[in-house]
Amino acid sequence: MVVYGFEPIGFEGELVTVEVDLRRGIPSVDLVGLPDSAVKEARERIRAAIRNSGFQFPLERMLISLAPAGVRKGGASFDLAMAIAVLVASGQIPDVGFPVVALGELELSGRIRPVAGVLPAVSAGLRSGIPYFVVPRANLREARALAGSAALAIDGLSDCVRLTAALRGIGSAEEFGPRDDLENQPAGGFSQPGADQAFRETTEYGDMADIRGQFSLRRAMEISAAGAHHMLLFGPPGVGKTMAARRLAGLLPDLDDDDALVATMLHSLAGALPERSGLLRRPPFRSPHHGASAEGIVGGGRCRKPGEISLAHGGVLLLDEAAEFRADVLQSLREPLEDGHVTIARADRVVSYPSRFMLVLSCNPCPCGNLGRRGAVCLCSPDEIRRYWKRLGGPLLDRIDIRVPVKPAGPSELASGPGEASATIKQRIVAARILQGRRYEGLPFHVNGRIPASGIDKFCGLGEQAAAVFVEKAEHESFSSRACHATLRVARTIADLESAQAIESRHIDEAFALRKYGDDDVFWLIP
Ligand SMILES: [Zn+2]
Repeated sequence: MVVYGFEPIGFEGELVTVEVDLRRGIPSVDLVGLPDSAVKEARERIRAAIRNSGFQFPLERMLISLAPAGVRKGGASFDLAMAIAVLVASGQIPDVGFPVVALGELELSGRIRPVAGVLPAVSAGLRSGIPYFVVPRANLREARALAGSAALAIDGLSDCVRLTAALRGIGSAEEFGPRDDLENQPAGGFSQPGADQAFRETTEYGDMADIRGQFSLRRAMEISAAGAHHMLLFGPPGVGKTMAARRLAGLLPDLDDDDALVATMLHSLAGALPERSGLLRRPPFRSPHHGASAEGIVGGGRCRKPGEISLAHGGVLLLDEAAEFRADVLQSLREPLEDGHVTIARADRVVSYPSRFMLVLSCNPCPCGNLGRRGAVCLCSPDEIRRYWKRLGGPLLDRIDIRVPVKPAGPSELASGPGEASATIKQRIVAARILQGRRYEGLPFHVNGRIPASGIDKFCGLGEQAAAVFVEKAEHESFSSRACHATLRVARTIADLESAQAIESRHIDEAFALRKYGDDDVFWLIP
């Protein structure tokens, strides 16, 4: 019986063979195969856990080998694989006769704690033809998220005897049977997926009904969500920009199977998957603080984990007070915006994580925040305002198709009652996404927001009248070619929201209004 652990490397990782050799001699434990300090400490944890679980720790010379030796092993998730290998080698639990991947961190009592990276390990196991996994109970749903995985939950090392019997049962059966039958202990605490989802949507995102008035903001959000267009929200502090960005994620359709798997893997690698979670189906919303470390936002570094920009994969990444973020962090967004992944150079190798998100930048209109605010005085000079906006960086801002000034809601807007609810708006968005999905079938992109420059003519072609309106407006606003492309993509989305085949001049008018801010000195609607 070969016991495997798993070492994540970037988005993927490697199965690690754990072998134990026992010989007569002075009792000792040697650990070889590039273990880091956390893995080395496992020797003491395993010794205590084995004893406290009713087994004997072998009083012999013990060699534990982790292979391949060239891969550096980190973290405590190897504890369980090593403990099982020791128990098998010393004949205290039977050899099941086929390979098993075991993941879990041991407490001294023998209890097993949940670990990060279970889903990537299951994926790696299945790719290598190993369908048998032993995982901490809190990771069980995650481990069973992929078809073909026969995963069993373990609460403590003392379960090993029961577990090997169960594994033998599965291994000898022709079929694994319904996957939920594999667990022979009450699940406890599992709720229905549907119920989970409703709970998350109302608590995590909030509802659009909470946004009173703000009609142009609401409209811009609907368009942005329908076509997955990146968005800039600017306006004085306290007008609800953050509140809006959070609700934008709630407007997005559920993740498709591919994105759900990728998003769940990334959360698993970062140790950010909620306990007892299966596949993540709702788009994530991430909002890192501008004071957070570049490692935390971009990923990699010493923690060797995906960062916020990868955790936002499939969902919304909000950079609140965007101009306050470090220039290198803002720069690092260019690669994911362009290619949908981020590459991080580490000391020993280069890793890459998927990172495709809708970017929402939110910022004040000027350093003091008062520009455009009624009854307030902005003391910033035009130069200061220009420098402030420059911090966002032209190349980054260039990729933002929709730029919306957000003003405080007036008294009549506040008294207008609740706005349209997220669920209703989402229906229109889903319908528009279905049209896009059909149009872009078989292509590497499937939303208007990602039409590459080379596809603009084909997918955003204009009739004669619309073309005349477009040219006139583009000349009047002296739009760059990037700005023209952005406008056409957004116009396509506006037409899709109406299920209109052709882009009409009214779609173009609206798209221009959503793109005019942020270039040159157009930072605020001059009254
Ligand atoms: Zn100001």
